[in-house]
Amino acid sequence: MTQVRTRFAPSPTGFIHLGNIRSALYPWVFARASKGVFILRIEDTDVERSSQEAVDVILESMQWLGLDVDEGPFYQMQRMDRYKAAVQEMLDKGLAYPCYMSTTELDALREAQMAAKQKPRYDGTWRPEAGKTLPPVPVGVRPVIRFKNPIGGSVAWDDKVKGRIEISNDELDDLVISRPASEGADSIVGTPTYNFCVVIDDLDMAITHVIRGDDHVNNTPRQINILRALGQEPPVYAHLPTVLNAEGEKMSKRHGAKAVTEYRDEGYLADAVVNYLARLGWSHGDDEIFSRQQLIEWFNLDHLGKSAGQFDEAKLRWVAQQHMKTTADGELAPLVLAQWSKRGVTVPAALTDGELLPRMCALFKDRCATTVELADWLAMYVADVQPSADELAGQITDTVRPAVAALRERLSTVTWDKAAIAAALKETLAQFSLKMPQLAIPVRLLVCGRSQTPSVDAVLELFERENVLKRLQLT
Ligand code: GLU
Repeated sequence: MTQVRTRFAPSPTGFIHLGNIRSALYPWVFARASKGVFILRIEDTDVERSSQEAVDVILESMQWLGLDVDEGPFYQMQRMDRYKAAVQEMLDKGLAYPCYMSTTELDALREAQMAAKQKPRYDGTWRPEAGKTLPPVPVGVRPVIRFKNPIGGSVAWDDKVKGRIEISNDELDDLVISRPASEGADSIVGTPTYNFCVVIDDLDMAITHVIRGDDHVNNTPRQINILRALGQEPPVYAHLPTVLNAEGEKMSKRHGAKAVTEYRDEGYLADAVVNYLARLGWSHGDDEIFSRQQLIEWFNLDHLGKSAGQFDEAKLRWVAQQHMKTTADGELAPLVLAQWSKRGVTVPAALTDGELLPRMCALFKDRCATTVELADWLAMYVADVQPSADELAGQITDTVRPAVAALRERLSTVTWDKAAIAAALKETLAQFSLKMPQLAIPVRLLVCGRSQTPSVDAVLELFERENVLKRLQLT
């Protein structure tokens, strides 16, 4: 069996959203699932729109999601000499030919064809054929180079998403594979065109599976014909349906899509986003929540969805919540520290290592979808809290005041653990004939700054006793 080799081939023209990066996730996971090789190729031939910043954002996004690259990044702009040599080779082998038809002539041809209700296409004027005399080469005109597309027959492939696709060769023009050379150049080969560069790259990089957006389906028959002309059988193709936004439009920055790195900054776990994106166009039975390892074990190209996935932020949040629950507390702790460090919070030494911070994570993670939310909750342990004055006034009534003071007194001497704290609460409730919420809510407000938390004894236990006593001190 040949080794699987896949690639992600983004054009670095700005911004990368979750819909785009799914085209990296699938080839990556397929390579990992098949013990293959994952290649990154930067398609930067649109010099006007490409930028290094955009490349950096792609790299950063992939790094965050853990889509590690085995080969590359290769930059198409650095491979121009190779593409030009390949065009020359096509010319030398009679697989391509110079075409001197000017744009004015082409326009006139197109108009005539449209007027005759024909599909506009190049008419083969400059295509050499046995026994055919070509027009005299016009002086001073630099030609484009066209590929000699096969005449008759068809080109077909079994797309892993779309099934069998067959296109008649008569539908396909002789594709321009190189633009005119610049004035004074010593070769007639100018800048190679997009589709040609892709073919040479897929060939040189020995790509076995092309997994990409279905906006490229129209390029595929042309690319297959060129590959075959060069003596290469085409790879397997899987054309992924576009990802739509909640309104059913193509996901895009203009339509409000956020950059991948924004989800990182919002504290989403990378594995949760990988899980969510994987499901947005692929399935493994009814499984909604899975780890990266399970995804790698299960992924194949046979269960790719045919219909367009629709991005749903609420579902992403739900998936993220499930991942927060199953992520080990020891893994969450450093992520919380990272959030605090971004905020400039001074973290007591007791929390920077050891078991305390993981225990805090364990207690609160079920209520969070992101590590930002978890860091918000746990902020009560590292910074002063500011309960709302109104809420305090409503809760700290004259009946409650002496109970808080008595509880504080008890807490100053008990063994500092959950059971003893629970007992102190109970005794205080009995002493003042109060019900649990009548004391627990004021205590939460004073110590945690909010009226709802997990079980109050469990929450208090993780504080320094001194801190609790200080916050329970009523003036
Ligand atoms: N550069 C193309 C894009 O960004 C991808 C081409 C391909 O995967 O063949 O859409």
